[in-house]
Amino acid sequence: MEIKRLKAEVRNKVEAQCREVTQLSLKIHDNPELGFQEEKASSWLINYLEDNGFRVQKCVAGLATAFQATYGQEKPRIALLAEYDALPKIGHGCGHNIIAASAVGAGVASKLAIDSLGGSVVVLGTPGEEVLGGKIDMVKAGIFEEIDVAMMVHPNTRNLATSQTLACISLDVEFFGKSAHAAAQPYKGINALEALILAFNSINSLRQHIKGEARIHGIITDGGEAPNVVPAHSAAKFLIRAPDNAYLNELKEKVLNCFKGASLASGARLEYSWGEKTYAPMRNNITLARLFRQNLESLGRHVDFFDPSFGFGSTDMGNVSQVVPSIHPMVAIASPEVLVHTLEFASAAASEAGNKGLLDAAKAMAMTVVDILSQPEMLDKIKQEFRSGHD
Ligand SMILES: [Zn+2]
Ligand SMILES: [Zn+2]
Repeated sequence: MEIKRLKAEVRNKVEAQCREVTQLSLKIHDNPELGFQEEKASSWLINYLEDNGFRVQKCVAGLATAFQATYGQEKPRIALLAEYDALPKIGHGCGHNIIAASAVGAGVASKLAIDSLGGSVVVLGTPGEEVLGGKIDMVKAGIFEEIDVAMMVHPNTRNLATSQTLACISLDVEFFGKSAHAAAQPYKGINALEALILAFNSINSLRQHIKGEARIHGIITDGGEAPNVVPAHSAAKFLIRAPDNAYLNELKEKVLNCFKGASLASGARLEYSWGEKTYAPMRNNITLARLFRQNLESLGRHVDFFDPSFGFGSTDMGNVSQVVPSIHPMVAIASPEVLVHTLEFASAAASEAGNKGLLDAAKAMAMTVVDILSQPEMLDKIKQEFRSGHD
């Protein structure tokens, strides 16, 4: 009975913040900032949390736009993660404005649960999710050592309680050849672009013999200067993704061999560097995902639990999920034809359906906070599942 009453209270508290959180979401949407440059977004979120009685620590983990906002003193400590970085040219095509606004809305509503049940809620501002891996820095800095459970909700075109995401690492390559007149003395040149094309073709051959979920994809960032000059330099950026870290390591070696082989064949010297941060795959805490699903369904949404065929790239929430029991569910804000990382999805993130998705996500997270704080045996079960799944 107590649980039911508290859930109704936190839901109402989200509803009562409807204007503020929607405005926050739309303001962030209208002012898209790239990863690690989210000064406006982080300061608006911090101001809102401070106004609502949270103790805020800025610049955590050495990241200027990361923050930690806490309400309550006791254990357990439940983290709600906000993302707020945008994509170049398409702005909030990943809808991170909704992630941010739903996390702060849920955080402020969860105060009611903390006041009556104890524990703490920590809204974590996690910048640079797209490629920069801000959460990886935060994990390394030990930000999650004091956290018991972590959750965030990502907008999408489906309501889904779990996410299958891939381990991912980036690879930068360069070939150094020798320029020459492409018609008069081509035999005196070494063609760095051809080396890169050979490597692309080797990777395409490799692709038919890799595991279905793995992905290898890249772009050429330098392919020469003029058609009548043998390119002396070429460069490319690749991303390599796999369902787990062991297979990622296997693939890294195979992909690198494609570049080494191309270097040998063309005579162009290879230089390469692996990205410093590896995105880990998502470990979904099933106990936590079930609680969240029930809560989101109580708001009138149909929520699928698991769909391995529903593609999602990689997220640094995967790294958080390796150290703390976590969920990264999806809330639908657009119809299934709309693709994430597009201008269409960016407009959905500022639509009526986007605002509804943000409120539902906030309510479901706040109700899940009530579940965790009111049933200590549930938290034990969440932690036990986390420990038993660790190798
Ligand atoms: Zn994205
Ligand atoms: Zn995203």
